[in-house]
Amino acid sequence: MQKRYLFTPGPTPVPPEVLAAGAEPMVHHRGLDFREVYERSLARLQDVFRTESPVLLFSASGTGAMDSAVSNLTRAGDRVAVVVAGAFGERWTKICAQYGLDVQRIDYEWGEVPEPAEIGAAVGESGAEIVFCTQSETSTGVVSDIQAIKAAVGDAVLVVDAVSSLGAVPLETDAWGVDVVLSGSQKALMCPPGLAMASVAGHLWDRLPPARSFYFDWRQTKKAQEAFDAAFTPAVSLIRSLDVALGMILDGGLDAAFERHVRLGRAARAGVKAMGLELFSPDDDTSAVVTAVRTPEGIEAPVLLRHLRERHGVTLAPGQGALKETVFRIGHIGWFDIFDIAAALAAIELSLTELGADVERGAAVTRAFEAYEQRVAA
Ligand code: PMP
Repeated sequence: MQKRYLFTPGPTPVPPEVLAAGAEPMVHHRGLDFREVYERSLARLQDVFRTESPVLLFSASGTGAMDSAVSNLTRAGDRVAVVVAGAFGERWTKICAQYGLDVQRIDYEWGEVPEPAEIGAAVGESGAEIVFCTQSETSTGVVSDIQAIKAAVGDAVLVVDAVSSLGAVPLETDAWGVDVVLSGSQKALMCPPGLAMASVAGHLWDRLPPARSFYFDWRQTKKAQEAFDAAFTPAVSLIRSLDVALGMILDGGLDAAFERHVRLGRAARAGVKAMGLELFSPDDDTSAVVTAVRTPEGIEAPVLLRHLRERHGVTLAPGQGALKETVFRIGHIGWFDIFDIAAALAAIELSLTELGADVERGAAVTRAFEAYEQRVAA
């Protein structure tokens, strides 16, 4: 018998009431039973996205929402700018290339924080009218300043991948004037994987080119959602789960959720540093989604992760790309509390000791609780 613990930045743990909603008997998607849930979920999504614009809901993983943005906003040959600072910035470039776009990369080292003024200047020079960027680069733990990036790119259309950040860190879609925001169900929204969302600002609708995807056609989706009658058979069970999860998030308050994520990030960083480990992700409050940590000298990250999973039932996330051997990641988005962080830290400390690393024992959990107890200044 072994208890399993999931501490990854997506999929994330799902509350029991959310799982239970997804297990309810099936209903027909064009009947009143579903319509009520659909209507309420779409309204709740607007509250979580902090927008008055429609939030389009697709049965897909987060990448589906990214694909929809490229296929609805662009024509083949268009010049676009992409901010690349990790694996998910790279994904933007691949999608854009597949749709035949002229991609102007704005590159940063993995782990570097994108600089809004530089992005503004690069976009201006490139002449691109659309900019694709990532709010929380899950591969590095870096969270970008979307408000400043939007201010810096001016009238260019800003498309933000908020797959791992929506509901975890502030994103004021309307107040900041962000044109398109994309997310997915399996991160801070505390649901199983399988739903993707896209908020599309009102001013874009009159200037959209013909959609280059049938399934992800934004106009068709919007029209169907306005009648609460999905264009295609929706993922009924997942939307029921989403409805419950969004209700929980909004009942607790989004601002309270943002504060909790900051404090969980502080706790994770304080704990790993107390063990004597080095952070890869930034050591400040922006890093509220995922904490990326370098393994100690002589311990390969895949070995540590396998040991954690096999010996202790604990799943953490590996480093991505070139960081695979040297970095591991602790997720703390969505349905996480301080006891999850404490368990993750205790398991890391124990596993590293078992693997022969020289780590400080007994300090991490105490430091994590101390860091968590500090309130975030308003
Ligand atoms: N963008 C970011 C920032 C992500 O973290 C992820 C998922 N890890 C994705 C996009 C892709 O989402 P999915 O795997 O749901 O397609």
